[in-house]
Amino acid sequence: MSHRAGPHFLQIPGPSNVPGRILRAIERPTIDHRGPTFQALAKEVLAKIRPIFKTTEPVIIFPSSGTGAWEAALVNTLSPGDRVLMYETGQFSTLWEELARRIGLVPEVIAGDWQGGARAEVIEERLSQDTGHEIKAVCVVHNETSTGATSNVRAVRGAIDSAKHPALFLVDTISGLGSIDYRHDEWGVDVTISGSQKGLMLPPGISFNAVSKKAVEASKIGKSARSYWDWSGQLANNPTGNFPYTPATNLLYGLVEACDMLMDEGLDNVFSRHERHAEATRRAVRAWGLKTQCQESSEHSPVLTGVVMPDGHDADALRAAILEHYDMSLGAGLGKVKGRMFRIGHLGDFNDLLLMGTLSGVEMGLAVAGVPHAKGGARAAMDYLTGNA
Ligand SMILES: *Cc1c(COP(=O)(O)O)cnc(C)c1O
Repeated sequence: MSHRAGPHFLQIPGPSNVPGRILRAIERPTIDHRGPTFQALAKEVLAKIRPIFKTTEPVIIFPSSGTGAWEAALVNTLSPGDRVLMYETGQFSTLWEELARRIGLVPEVIAGDWQGGARAEVIEERLSQDTGHEIKAVCVVHNETSTGATSNVRAVRGAIDSAKHPALFLVDTISGLGSIDYRHDEWGVDVTISGSQKGLMLPPGISFNAVSKKAVEASKIGKSARSYWDWSGQLANNPTGNFPYTPATNLLYGLVEACDMLMDEGLDNVFSRHERHAEATRRAVRAWGLKTQCQESSEHSPVLTGVVMPDGHDADALRAAILEHYDMSLGAGLGKVKGRMFRIGHLGDFNDLLLMGTLSGVEMGLAVAGVPHAKGGARAAMDYLTGNA
């Protein structure tokens, strides 16, 4: 089939759907990134991104996927052989750990069950035992996109403080920023890592490190080899609207637009919209008689919902049927849960009717793929949405 009528439903938890307003901004001609017009754009974008992280400190922008910003956070602040405490929330925390190992750090992993977020009390206990302060950083994923669970970043900060531990605090909110409340300064995060293609509604291609003063000080003595990811060139050039190498000019046009859209709607409204859609989705899942991957009631992600398949049924076969029949892409189970669950993204530029199209597509897909379920999930979501208009 060469043409499929109507829009494709891109309901993976990132990249999210890019709104027309952002696509049109990106379409503008690429300009000289060392000229005055670009410098004005850069200053604007570097100012507008800070309130999204709720920080008054610098936010460094890399032309890269989120993985690059993970690496940047580690190589700027740490030295080879440094021990880092990482909490296993799911596949993304595991990938970050592998990255840390490959660049010569020594990750110590707190094992998790992939059904909730990082547990602050376990982190506190481990840090309290580390009286010699061998642990140089604590790394936590704010929104674990592989499972649909959030970590309480404020509580982890509290754990580090209660243990009176000097470790740096590094947080991945690649899929949380712009969808779930996040407070870089208030929560005392040293490096916040994010990316463009999830809550920020941009295409993939730029990533972020929001930094604290403590992180910048650490970067001056950190001994990891680094060049492309080095913060110093960025921090020296950014105040005059410059970058140390060619930035992703057109994505920066889009980023200005994304920041304006989030601020126009109001961050709190954006966050409650995501929570409302997530709650409606969970009601649909419950009505189908299926389980969510996240089992902690206070840690369900507002960004996506991971749905566990009934025994003996393959999530990837269901996803393939939904793509074939309804032209909708859903997220696959990643890593050890591959085939056992799928993920419904309900983030970014999204509203009630798009959610209803998404949940209807899932329910119809369950039927055509022969997956045992009860009808009425979409109905349950509709009732919740109309009852909470
Ligand atoms: C998407 C994602 C990443 C990886 O980002 P890429 O842009 O694919 O490199 C890392 N962590 C989390 C939590 C993510 O959602």
